[in-house]
Amino acid sequence: MSLLVVGSLALDTIETPFGKAEMTVGGSATFISVSASYFIQPVRLVGVVGGDFPKKELSFLEEREIDLEGLQIIHEGRTFHWHGKYSYDLNSRDTITTELNVFADFDPVIPDSFKKSQYICLGNINPELQRKVFFQLESPKLVIADTMNFWIQGKHEALLDMLQYVNVLIVNDSEARELSKEFNLFKAARVIQNMGPKIVIIKKGEHGALLFYENELFTAPAYPLESIYDPTGAGDSFAGGFIGYLAKTDDLTYENMKRAVIFGSTVASFCVEKFSLDGLRDLSHLEIKDRFNEFKRFSAFEAVEI
Ligand code: AMP
Repeated sequence: MSLLVVGSLALDTIETPFGKAEMTVGGSATFISVSASYFIQPVRLVGVVGGDFPKKELSFLEEREIDLEGLQIIHEGRTFHWHGKYSYDLNSRDTITTELNVFADFDPVIPDSFKKSQYICLGNINPELQRKVFFQLESPKLVIADTMNFWIQGKHEALLDMLQYVNVLIVNDSEARELSKEFNLFKAARVIQNMGPKIVIIKKGEHGALLFYENELFTAPAYPLESIYDPTGAGDSFAGGFIGYLAKTDDLTYENMKRAVIFGSTVASFCVEKFSLDGLRDLSHLEIKDRFNEFKRFSAFEAVEI
């Protein structure tokens, strides 16, 4: 199966209660494609960077078998820059700055060799661009999209339009509330399903994730980590693990999607243990498998008669 990822590649400044990192590699497409590459290779990437994006990070993506044919490099431009600051509990963050830079004029062109991709992950970018990608594809089997409050507020109509072409929307709890205008997450998911995507995943940070699959509901725990260092990329690595596993297995049943949610949560748990992309640089399949199995151990119990 083939997987195409479109989204941002960034240089981030991140402040957490544990430290600050400046101009560290980030971006939705970066986290998604690296995470997915642990399940399926190659991963096809479409995005844009400026001349300041470190060459060694491009080499790292290539080492992970991420196909960069669709990556535009604007040598005279600067890479998208995001500065985020986390509160003490790491569950909420403020965006200090978003500098679009080369992203401001980004026109996603899908190379001919990528157009027949079956699994598509539209990372968090302007919904007008997400829609533009969709119209260049030949016959995608599954389209997943992520978004955030920046676009829910700033490009609301375009987002509603884009949602009609999406099979799975992945958002966090506050984004689900904002998009649906419903406080209750179950009601929010129903409202979003009526906007287009029949499958909605609502991430709740350290409290796990909810999978709404047509009329079914699966509640997934988060992995109980003792040390969380930097939550940046948790949502994107969740999406990457989720779609990477689905593309590898090519099975869109509810049972398999539940497993995909746990694989997504597994990869996200590795991501947040270190700064930036560092938690995802060198994972083994055994580590991923062991942690996946631990999810079951942490949440399974035997029913008894009462
Ligand atoms: P996550 O923590 O999974 O929500 O993703 C964090 C990544 O999203 C960071 O590495 C940022 O560079 C990227 N990001 C933040 N804001 C935007 C935006 N408005 N558009 C695209 N990517 C963004």
